Amino acid sequence: MNLNKLLRKNILGMKAYSSARDEYKDLESDMVFLDANENPFDTLLNRYPDPQQNRLKQIIAKQRTVSTDHILLGNGSDEVLDLIFRAFCEPNKDSILTLPPTYGMYDVLANLNAIENIQVPLSPDFQLEVDSILDAIQPQTKLLFICSPNNPSGNTVDRKAIERLLNGFKGVVVIDEAYIDFSNEVSWTAYLNMYPNLIVTQTLSKAYGLAGIRLGICFASKAIIAVLNKIKPPYNINSLTQDAAIKALENKTIVDAQVETLLNQRNSLINAFKSVSFIKKIYPSEANFILIKVDDANKRYDELIKNGIVVRNRSSQLHCENCLRITVGTSSENTQLLTLLNTLI
Ligand SMILES: *Cc1c(COP(=O)(O)O)cnc(C)c1O
Repeated sequence: MNLNKLLRKNILGMKAYSSARDEYKDLESDMVFLDANENPFDTLLNRYPDPQQNRLKQIIAKQRTVSTDHILLGNGSDEVLDLIFRAFCEPNKDSILTLPPTYGMYDVLANLNAIENIQVPLSPDFQLEVDSILDAIQPQTKLLFICSPNNPSGNTVDRKAIERLLNGFKGVVVIDEAYIDFSNEVSWTAYLNMYPNLIVTQTLSKAYGLAGIRLGICFASKAIIAVLNKIKPPYNINSLTQDAAIKALENKTIVDAQVETLLNQRNSLINAFKSVSFIKKIYPSEANFILIKVDDANKRYDELIKNGIVVRNRSSQLHCENCLRITVGTSSENTQLLTLLNTLI
């Protein structure tokens, strides 16, 4: 992989905005800060946040055994993904490859950035069609998005197939691991040193229970991280988010316990679904949701809504005809769902 050839020309030549707070690191010291036009009266939030999020990154680095210079943080994975598009894809010229059915944001961002989205369907059991993917790659294809565990199907993607793509594709392979904490798979972050064209994204929005703070994590080579750092908005992670994330990560045992509970709840739901007559198929899940095929998804969706339960109708997605995606809730929420399902005919 030749990073300089993959990056957009304007990005290559760009210099990062130098923010006032970049010029010294030591916010704890007794320095007098008259550099950033802040209001000097203490509101706990009157100062700009750390643009490099050093404390937070150090905790993430330790927990994920990746060094801090392989990490970039974003305002949700959505910002991370957008930065990746803007670093690599020239509007009206380059293309990306996505594998439907998958997460909708890749296509939204492709449209937003005027990038062609070449779609190569997953197989009906939601695995990669490696040969078709390799065939579909064009000279201007910069990025390939693989979601594992995949949303909306819930399965993890075969590792050997991903390896073939990492080796066979000269662009960047982005593996979206939003649901990795619910899976038995090892994170691809363990392979960053082996594949310079690998980017792994994670988030605190799912397992960590912090969708509201918007924190996405990007792991990649030092060279890619340096580029993304250069183009990110200087203060993209606000102080409240940095503090909340640090607190959650320092209390990781709470998250671990919640994940374990959700995995048990997921198994109970799967078992209970087996005896609901209009559920035709339950797809295997390594995430905190379950995709099911029912007799008539629109009808079942409406019945659930009428009774106050909102699920996601995924019927319009490829290979997902009559499919509903159901998030694993608390024990009492799941009981409510099952009670209702058992009263419907
Ligand atoms: C929920 C989800 C995300 C999370 O996005 P955030 O912007 O971090 O909240 C990312 N990727 C996939 C596939 C998801 O389902």
